[in-house]
Amino acid sequence: MSGSPSTRATAGLSRGVHPPDRKSPTAEAPIEVLPTPAKVLIPLLQHTGAPAAAQVKPKQDVELGELLAEPDGFISAGVHASVRGKTARASVATLPNGRHVAAVPITSADEQPLAGTALYADVLGGDWAADTANIEGRDPQDIADAVRDAGIVGLGGAAFPSHVKLARNDSKPIDTLLVNGCECEPYLTADHRIMVEAAPAVVAGARLAARANGAERIVIAIEDNKPAAVEAVRAACGERSRAACGERSRASGAAPGVTVAVLRTRYPQGGEKQAVQVALGREVPNGGLPLDVGVVVLNVGTSAAIARAVLRGKPLTHRVVTVTGAGVAEPKNLLVPVGTPYRALLDACGQLTRDAVRVVAGGPMMGFALGDLDTPVTKGTSGVVALTACDLPRPAQTACIRCGRCVDVCPMNLVPTKIATAARNRDWDLARRYEMLACIECGCCAYACPARIPLAQLIRMGKAELPRE
Ligand code: SF4
Ligand code: SF4
Repeated sequence: MSGSPSTRATAGLSRGVHPPDRKSPTAEAPIEVLPTPAKVLIPLLQHTGAPAAAQVKPKQDVELGELLAEPDGFISAGVHASVRGKTARASVATLPNGRHVAAVPITSADEQPLAGTALYADVLGGDWAADTANIEGRDPQDIADAVRDAGIVGLGGAAFPSHVKLARNDSKPIDTLLVNGCECEPYLTADHRIMVEAAPAVVAGARLAARANGAERIVIAIEDNKPAAVEAVRAACGERSRAACGERSRASGAAPGVTVAVLRTRYPQGGEKQAVQVALGREVPNGGLPLDVGVVVLNVGTSAAIARAVLRGKPLTHRVVTVTGAGVAEPKNLLVPVGTPYRALLDACGQLTRDAVRVVAGGPMMGFALGDLDTPVTKGTSGVVALTACDLPRPAQTACIRCGRCVDVCPMNLVPTKIATAARNRDWDLARRYEMLACIECGCCAYACPARIPLAQLIRMGKAELPRE
């Protein structure tokens, strides 16, 4: 899609793939509020780092937003009650990636303090302009502390604790905050809808984050298949033109400039390193982080959650999830409490169709097939995609024909066929030599392979089995 002149892309990822985006069933669907589920199961590890330490006992009455478990260390995140209700005995949740983690079950009370339009307004709606008037006067540490206390983690999937990204780092100063609105995974539209419906919150959160970590400029990257999001975010940040808004300096004490970068749609452009490369022209070194090149990356939903935490004092209890695919009757974008079973989301969307054969947590390129529909939604859940047999045309796997397509599409410049072979043979020395750990598990290689070799799956399993050095 080329878009209007103001939404035309200026850059795009050179590698990667362009699968059909299949976003149309939910791209125009306004976010709906899921009715409060009867029960939630809240995992104490929904993030990168150490599990949170439980602070509640069984049969304890808890309020919406009450702290259930506090962060255990710097790289950790607290979790909060996503409903008002009564806790039950500590349990174990099996996450979509197969990991078993401690969890707190809560039976919902009949009366909830927030529901329906009131809940929507509390999380995404309202007027943020008045609250954002004095961002430059706020104490940076207070902002980072509020984000930590709210249990905010990256909502794009990686679930890295956000307060860590907001900490000032004298040894590696940050000059740019990149707000990632690419949402390049097929089917998913949660970030798209957040940008369309809550752009002022996204921009407010970005400004708060930049105030906290000292970034001198903010770049919001959006792919050109989301022109409505581009327009909404531009309007929210008051961008009149790139030249007018992108180059102001922090040295004078002014607010950092906000620029919207429209990128040519390409998967996996939403990966942190790929987004930094395309939107900013900086190469994150192999094994390094965006921080190494002066950049912090935040997802747009994370940015909105930061605004809510700092400006409204609200913890992260809900998130937007896209429920879609040919295997679900009524695709929707839903605002749901963390800990809700996937089954409740599918029920709210008319349930699975008869021909649904697979339910994927996340998008089809990087997601995990769900073995149990009672698996809880976590802070990192961006979507659930129900696929039918027609979506899974899997002719039999054949031998590698050495065509090199997997190498051509790999955004990390790896040799997927070599790594997959090493993983299959459990030859860990060879796997390391071919940089298996640099793989971001984007699935491009498997998607492009004419021999239908499940390269990404083999590499993902290899990474899980790789002995620690
Ligand atoms: S090797 Fe990893 S990073 Fe490269 S295309 Fe395959 S899954 Fe993506
Ligand atoms: S794309 Fe498939 S067939 Fe082609 S070189 Fe890679 S593994 Fe072999």
